[in-house]
Amino acid sequence: MSELLMHKGRPVPYITAWSGEQVLQPPVIVVGGGIAYAGPTPGRGSAGLLWKPWAINQGVGEPLWKVVHGPRQRRAMRKFLCQVCGGPADRDKRGWLWLLEDHRDEGPKWPHGEMTVHPPVCRSCAPVAARLCPHLRREGVVPVRVGDVILDAVYGQRFYTGPLGLVGGEMDVFLMTSWRARWVVGGQLAASLARCTVLDPAEVGIETPAPREAVGR
Ligand SMILES: [Zn+2]
Repeated sequence: MSELLMHKGRPVPYITAWSGEQVLQPPVIVVGGGIAYAGPTPGRGSAGLLWKPWAINQGVGEPLWKVVHGPRQRRAMRKFLCQVCGGPADRDKRGWLWLLEDHRDEGPKWPHGEMTVHPPVCRSCAPVAARLCPHLRREGVVPVRVGDVILDAVYGQRFYTGPLGLVGGEMDVFLMTSWRARWVVGGQLAASLARCTVLDPAEVGIETPAPREAVGR
């Protein structure tokens, strides 16, 4: 485990954004079958995607507890880094360690094909993540080994052309291969998970979540 970044006695996850990292998003305009930021050379980034801009100043200002820092989230997804400490995520012969919301009621194939924007975790951080992440506390957490991770989608805000110009729609997940992705200001990478093995929580030490004192809440 890498060292946890702390703020007022609480660990701050690697993917959490800080107030010192916020930057103004330039206005979007229509360019060549999609949107781009207005500016001297409007264009989209690699793979034709447009990403919400962030400064990289981890630890500067206050943690924005409910906001994910796009560039760190994408780095964690691409390099299989722990979402809590930013160190290497845990892996064994069955795959990477992921904590998922408990959706076993969706059927026997779950979580095969599950899409997630939450990066994997390391062993030491699994109990911390189970306690820190609001969605895991709410839904219940299931540890899973993931053999295949396909980074094929973007989570972001879709823009539409209306009579009064461009309007922003709801946040959603869009396949990168879809034309719709060219109309999205992306925030995070979404992964499709395959070759999944559901684990006994005790196997990764999350039978009992980390004590409240350890996470400061
Ligand atoms: Zn970790």
